Amino acid sequence: SDINALMVRASVRAELFAETCRIAVEHGNFRMAMICMVDPASKAIVPVATSGKDDDLLISVKQLLSSSEDAPKTLIAGALREKRAMVVNDTQFDQRVLLHKLYYDAGVRSLVVLPLVVGEQVLGVFVLYANETDFFHDEEMKLLSGLADDVAFGIDHINKVEQLDYLAFYDATTGLANQSLFLERLQQIVSTSLADGRKKAICVLDIERFKSVNDAFGRKAADKLLRMVAQRLVQAGGGDATRFARVGADRFVIVVLDMENAEQLGGYIEQRLNATCDEPFSVGDHTVRVSVKVGIAVFPDDGMDSESLMRNAEAALKKAKASGERFVFFTEAMSERVAERLALEGRLRQAIGRQEFVLHYQPKLNLATREMTGVEALIRWNDPQAGLVPPSMFIPILEETGLIHEVGRWAIRKALEDYLCWLDRGFAAVRIAVNVSALQLRNRGFVSEIGQALRIDGRAAGGLELEITESLVMEDVQYSIEVLQAIRELGVTIAIDDFGTGFSSLSYLSRLPMDTLKIDRSFVNDMTVTPHGLALVSTIISLAHSLEHTVVAEGVETEEQWQTLQSLGCDEMQGFLISRPVPGEVFEARYLSLTG
Ligand code: C2E
Ligand code: CA
Ligand code: CA
Repeated sequence: SDINALMVRASVRAELFAETCRIAVEHGNFRMAMICMVDPASKAIVPVATSGKDDDLLISVKQLLSSSEDAPKTLIAGALREKRAMVVNDTQFDQRVLLHKLYYDAGVRSLVVLPLVVGEQVLGVFVLYANETDFFHDEEMKLLSGLADDVAFGIDHINKVEQLDYLAFYDATTGLANQSLFLERLQQIVSTSLADGRKKAICVLDIERFKSVNDAFGRKAADKLLRMVAQRLVQAGGGDATRFARVGADRFVIVVLDMENAEQLGGYIEQRLNATCDEPFSVGDHTVRVSVKVGIAVFPDDGMDSESLMRNAEAALKKAKASGERFVFFTEAMSERVAERLALEGRLRQAIGRQEFVLHYQPKLNLATREMTGVEALIRWNDPQAGLVPPSMFIPILEETGLIHEVGRWAIRKALEDYLCWLDRGFAAVRIAVNVSALQLRNRGFVSEIGQALRIDGRAAGGLELEITESLVMEDVQYSIEVLQAIRELGVTIAIDDFGTGFSSLSYLSRLPMDTLKIDRSFVNDMTVTPHGLALVSTIISLAHSLEHTVVAEGVETEEQWQTLQSLGCDEMQGFLISRPVPGEVFEARYLSLTG
């Protein structure tokens, strides 16, 4: 993985323990050898290596050491406490031994516990088990004490190197990686992701006026603030600390992985920064507000290696600090695109409150009689700046930002309102089909929301159809079946939209609670161009009829298409040939007829 120094040390340590035990058993003629270390946090005694092990014996020893009641009574605990060797030359008759019978069964007749001491500190113990009584005489003990000292020295050495390694690669204040480790990690990411085509952003973040915090509250408080900022950053960024580093006194860097596009990144960063900076930090008795500036370089656009990405992100940060912007991209065009996108999000948010959304209506006609059978509501945004904006320009953004729920709810209410208004004014009823986004359908409260919208009037359910795209329904068939069923029970009809693009399996299709199937425009278009296309549409129509659904052809633009569809037995059609989607008043004047 990244920098293996720490791992290497850890494996060196394990090797030292294992080798020591092995050599003791093989060359010292012991029954078993074991090294236990004291866990600095819990103070528990943990066996870390054994050799010549007798499984039953080892299990019992481990049990004994993990019992909070018995562990302090063991010879091992004694050796740790008193920092001296504990020698037992006859395990059967020594009162201090707790596992007489087990030792007897395992053939252990004498044992020694040697503390591993460095300076004033006992790190652990080295325990040797022999199968003769009186094994540990003076000369043997001198030799073994020397060995224990060597092991202790080795451990101490490894600990020190490890600490140096830590300081070489990590920032001791925040625990995050430092710049050199970060650059290595970034290089790793960069070199393995050239092929995947997804963008990564390198964001260098600077805390504004950090120096004044330092001057006012002192070094300790400033360090505490840095730690808290680091924590919040990591938390806001999803919790994976390896993507963060501290690269200067008040400077952090973050890699954001796998962005679809840079426009998305703007909103993402804004959210994380808000999560980090919105709430003030309490440092000692003080409350400190933190604001930040961010410079961003995007891989691969702004650099192909960690050094140049870092350099360019720093250059962008410099610009951000000189500007009024909270974050600036290295590439100016990128900054502009992101700023535009954020501004658009802002205007869409306002659009809801300002009632800038409107529904346009496109009639559906019976192919044979040419009578109107229904109407589809299609949303538009009446942007004061740009005029009428088509849904393809803003629905994806509403979905990304979650605003779709509110706008979707509005569309359903507005359609019902228009329907009831037309009824009240004496027009013949036409059911209005409203498009539903994937996110709305997946929302667990969707059905009850519809139920609530219908409650305004007993006639409302007869005026609503929901159009749901085929691909969406197929994502989770069982769930879709339940939701669609519940919606139909409310008296609302269901149309499966864009049919033919979602790869439905036939068995699922037959189980879906629905009324209408809408053939996607692309098939209607191909129908009169290739024989293959004709066959496809013909098949879809017979399929729908065999399942007793109504079929609507979308996007009918020519007389030829109309005639072909009629000859194939299609029920209804919709398209520019009859009418473009038009504002409510226009629709009313052109297509609604008075009853009675
Ligand atoms: P859709 O549901 O497939 O709607 C049909 C689209 O085809 C509409 O585009 C309509 O204006 C267009 N169209 C109709 N007849 C013809 C034709 O003869 N030729 C051609 N070339 N196009 C035709 P529009 O209004 O731009 O809507 C695009 C998509 O936006 C809709 O596709 C629908 O998925 C989505 N949408 C519209 N309103 C809403 C809404 O209120 N909520 C949600 N979630 N999505 C909506
Ligand atoms: Ca539709
Ligand atoms: Ca459609």
